[in-house]
Amino acid sequence: MEFVVEAKVRVRFAPSPTGYPHLGNIRTALFNWLFARHHGGKFILRIEDTDVARKVEGAVEMIQDSLSWLGLGWDEGPYFQSQRLPIYHEVANRLLKENHAYLCYCSPERLETMRQEQMKRHQPPKYDGHCRNLTQQEKARLEASGVNPVVRFKTPAAGETTFHDLIRGAVTFRNDILNDFVLLKSDGYPTYHLANVIDDHSMDISHVLRADEWLSSTPQHMLLYQALNWQPPQFAHLPMILGPDRAKLSKRHGATNIADYHLQGYLPTAMMNFLALLGWSLDDRTELLSQEELIKHFSLERVGKTAAIFNKDKLEWMNGVYLRKLSPEEFAKLATPFLSRDLPSLVKRPLDENYIRQIMPLIQERAKTLAEVPQLADFLFLDDLQYDTGLLLSGGLDSAQAINSIEATVQKLELVQDWDASSLESILRPLATELNLSTRKFFGLLRVATTGRTAAPPLFQTMAVLGKDKCLNRLRGALQRISLIKS
Ligand code: GLU
Repeated sequence: MEFVVEAKVRVRFAPSPTGYPHLGNIRTALFNWLFARHHGGKFILRIEDTDVARKVEGAVEMIQDSLSWLGLGWDEGPYFQSQRLPIYHEVANRLLKENHAYLCYCSPERLETMRQEQMKRHQPPKYDGHCRNLTQQEKARLEASGVNPVVRFKTPAAGETTFHDLIRGAVTFRNDILNDFVLLKSDGYPTYHLANVIDDHSMDISHVLRADEWLSSTPQHMLLYQALNWQPPQFAHLPMILGPDRAKLSKRHGATNIADYHLQGYLPTAMMNFLALLGWSLDDRTELLSQEELIKHFSLERVGKTAAIFNKDKLEWMNGVYLRKLSPEEFAKLATPFLSRDLPSLVKRPLDENYIRQIMPLIQERAKTLAEVPQLADFLFLDDLQYDTGLLLSGGLDSAQAINSIEATVQKLELVQDWDASSLESILRPLATELNLSTRKFFGLLRVATTGRTAAPPLFQTMAVLGKDKCLNRLRGALQRISLIKS
């Protein structure tokens, strides 16, 4: 059964610019975007910048860049709460007038002492309602004292607040554990609760899809909707994302800012697919879904209640799959900035584009991220290989056998006219037999001699792209190295 979505769908991503967007934030954005696209609705970007002290420079730009990188275009906004202060003041005044709110003059010191005492008594921290029932006289005195008050909501002392969450079903909170929460701060800025409710209402938001951590704020929001006599949107609280150790996802798990994934050479297509599966699934089996398929199939019914586990290995695997789906030209184009940035400085810049296009198919088969490409490919660019000479004998040959084999190889290869993978193979395979060596040992030796490493792309293809001169030089270089060990 699919949830019936009657009204026109308008959803929003409402980040606070108090840091750079991380995986969890963007997963929320993605689910909102997919929901909007699936239902032909609107996806709105709203910046909740009412916490002036915690505002981080550049965060708004980073949020927009990250959404754009993933292809999560927004239909409206960005709206900035800091530019809408008069709207919040007007509603706060209405709540005051209608006796749903009151002015509170308590000093930070008083609130702190109250909190300490509650802690000592093992009570949950909660405003004690001191300013709820001030006499006219007391009010007049406080007003005259010049203290800037805050506006608090009059939370009903008894009863319960229930709402229906589209993912968790009925959720009920006892009102007596809820606070007389602040609506307007003494700096004139609204709190998250007030601005969030007003904006969701005035922006005609039909569904609020947000992280689980906001679930406990929802009863307060419901009370505000009731007090204002506004129809609340539908709520869906998305499951948390945990690390493999089931601890809350953090830097420790390598889950840093979304922008870092870009820098580390993840593709936005892979990232979207991966993030979609953090809390949603098509059928518990299908892993690879294109953007079109995600839009087609996304539904809140298939969003789980239990926490999603972030698995970096799976992300790498998936990114590798998407890298291999690219055309060789696209792969080469995307890999080029990584090569320019990270190849050893000995390699001449600008890099030869033709050469890159020629060698990249060898690497495309192996890379899990674009950032790995320079390190997988550096031997294809360097003139002099740096490697431990001992590697040449690591396959189990002694130095005399190694010298003999390389000399024989050089002799044969000097005569080769058509320098391609199949000719090389047709010469070198029989040579292993002639030398009375297993192909594993012989090819292992040639691999180290031509690439400086024991694991590399397929030998004959690698030698083919390296070209005759480079291969022969490297083989001769290896001979010299071995003779040095011998003496
Ligand atoms: N500003 C909140 C955040 O940063 C928004 C929560 C909500 O979507 O209501 O996540």
